[in-house]
Amino acid sequence: MNNLRKEAFSLSLSVSTKTAKSKTEARTITTFETKNNISLTTGVLTELLTTRLQSTNLWQKNRTGHSNKENYSGMTGVMMDLDGGVSITEIEQRCKEWHYVLYTSTSHLINGDERFRVILPIDPKTYNLYTSETLHSRMYESVLKQFPEIDKSCTSTASKFFPFCGDMQNFEVKVHVGQDYWTPDFSARYVDFSKVKGIPVIALDTVVLDYKKQPILIRDITEKTRIFCPFCDPKERHNPDSHNAAVYIKNGVPSIYCSSCESRGKGLGKKGVYQLEPNRAFELAVANKGVIVFRDILTDKYFLGETSKTQGTYGFNTISKQNISNALSTRDIPVPDLFPEMEFFPDFTSDKIIDLDHRFVNRYISPNVLKKPVVNGIGTSIPKYTALLTKYICGDDQDVFDLLINHLGYMVQKRVKTRVAFLFQGTQGTGKGVWFNYVLAQIFGRNYCADVMQKVFVKEFNTFLENNFCILVDEVEANFSETNNEITRVLKQVIADTYISVEGKGVDIRNGRNNANIFFATNKRNGVHIEPGDRRFIVAPRQEGKIYNQPWWTDDDQMIEKLKSETKEFVAYLKRYQVDFTKVNRPFDNPAKSALIDLSKTNADYFFEAVKEGNWEWLNDNIVPEPISIGIYPDIQNTVNRIKLASQVSRDDLNSIYNNISGKHINPAGFTRLCKLHGFEIKQLWINGANIKGIKVEWILPNLVNTKF
Ligand SMILES: [Zn+2]
Repeated sequence: MNNLRKEAFSLSLSVSTKTAKSKTEARTITTFETKNNISLTTGVLTELLTTRLQSTNLWQKNRTGHSNKENYSGMTGVMMDLDGGVSITEIEQRCKEWHYVLYTSTSHLINGDERFRVILPIDPKTYNLYTSETLHSRMYESVLKQFPEIDKSCTSTASKFFPFCGDMQNFEVKVHVGQDYWTPDFSARYVDFSKVKGIPVIALDTVVLDYKKQPILIRDITEKTRIFCPFCDPKERHNPDSHNAAVYIKNGVPSIYCSSCESRGKGLGKKGVYQLEPNRAFELAVANKGVIVFRDILTDKYFLGETSKTQGTYGFNTISKQNISNALSTRDIPVPDLFPEMEFFPDFTSDKIIDLDHRFVNRYISPNVLKKPVVNGIGTSIPKYTALLTKYICGDDQDVFDLLINHLGYMVQKRVKTRVAFLFQGTQGTGKGVWFNYVLAQIFGRNYCADVMQKVFVKEFNTFLENNFCILVDEVEANFSETNNEITRVLKQVIADTYISVEGKGVDIRNGRNNANIFFATNKRNGVHIEPGDRRFIVAPRQEGKIYNQPWWTDDDQMIEKLKSETKEFVAYLKRYQVDFTKVNRPFDNPAKSALIDLSKTNADYFFEAVKEGNWEWLNDNIVPEPISIGIYPDIQNTVNRIKLASQVSRDDLNSIYNNISGKHINPAGFTRLCKLHGFEIKQLWINGANIKGIKVEWILPNLVNTKF
């Protein structure tokens, strides 16, 4: 329930999800949830403290809520268990300036001793500060200095209090509103040099005192800060009240320089310098400078990633292991003892390059134009030359153009693979290559858009699919209706499948993913045959004209510059574009596509389609007249004429017409099977006074009037 009352102070605790009535029962409970802003009324607190386990430790690291050290994620206060030896009144006196909750333990007054607990909440703003075990123990060092009589067994990151299980007459809870939350009194940590082997290093959790003697964590220091050296003994300083050191930040990595340590020959190179642990320093430098060296676990190669000084763009180079230290040192980056092992492949959906937490380096460096948010006022329409060229390669077809823009909008906004392919057809010089390289590749990045001949592509498609977001497969020549052809099988998978495994084709894509959006281009008239019922293609009508004959086309180089200058505007347009998701990844049936489907049809397809449609005329047009009519077989023209007005045709008549048209010699049994394959069941029918095999037909005849003759 939401607590609407404004409490005098904030009390948040880890509370067991289950209730317990005895200590035995309580010992089995390990799952906790965080209760924030607990109501400070006696009723609510009594209910909670007498039924559930409680703790000021938070255990949300792995979201399981298990109360162990591994899950420790922060603290909401400190817990003090007082087992006799000190009275409630005395503790109340010593804690009076702070907010606290005091309540009695199960064994309270059993031997006449006062046994009780005190929870000193800390400022809610600091709950997430003490996330490490070291900082947690430093908190309790501070508590123990003030309250040496507390039970030390309740001061670990896994500690919790059991519920009060005794006689309710002995239960009592008090809420005290002080002037403020309790705060720890940290002191700088001094290092006993006689015990340190080598040179001490600092950690991000190291607490130092700033010049005002306020504790500060090394991780919170962002610029040069004067401090008291944590490695100096104050007694050895000439003036114990003056700060003697400073924290310097380089590449985002802090180090301490202490003049006092230098004068006594301490620190790195006896120069009074203390550095961060090298592995942490490397991580920080990576996070702040973006320079990284890592081992790609997939290829076992080392890579150096950084922003190129000459081009200003981020990139990766392989580096040999023996050159790494040198490369890092010249870049002022600390050299770690171990280089991170990372997965290294392109994630086109993400702009993030290095993710040390997930051990991933993104091979895709998204271009600024795609990464940066859209500036107001630009991208209200498709820029001029981009629109003209895009329309042109679409064969000046408005529908295909609209679908292409819709898919480009989807690709820009979602950055995922589409599962249909566009096919651009036209003579040489229609600008397909210019469009791909100076419109598309400008948007998604030159290094992630490959323009490749089909014969090269099918040889090593894995390499292309692995690292490209767009691929233009040029000079495509394939019959997609052939199911047992290896090239078409590969191309079909490449268009539609997100995961690829094609047997016997060298190595599979290492991460298994196919992210590539496929575009096909062909100069040939009949280069591509598409299967009936296809679900993969959007076909642009053939463009017959040469682009350089168009009135708007300027000199090639000038046009390329114009197109490049329009990229920003075009991306803005696509980012704002209202994508019609019902049209994404759907094939589009138009006459251009039907023509390519027709190319793939066999004679049998056409023959049975004609019979199905009742297209007697097609049969009549396509028979091959026999040179002479020999008596053994009926003349084919006679057969076709004979069936013209019939509503039933014998299988044998159909068979001879089919054999004539196709030039084949299929026997009656084989023809029966062929009929079945095309949806015709041969049945016993009563035809011309005889019971014979055949099918029913319904011819739709042209010029029916004339046939009366
Ligand atoms: Zn020092």
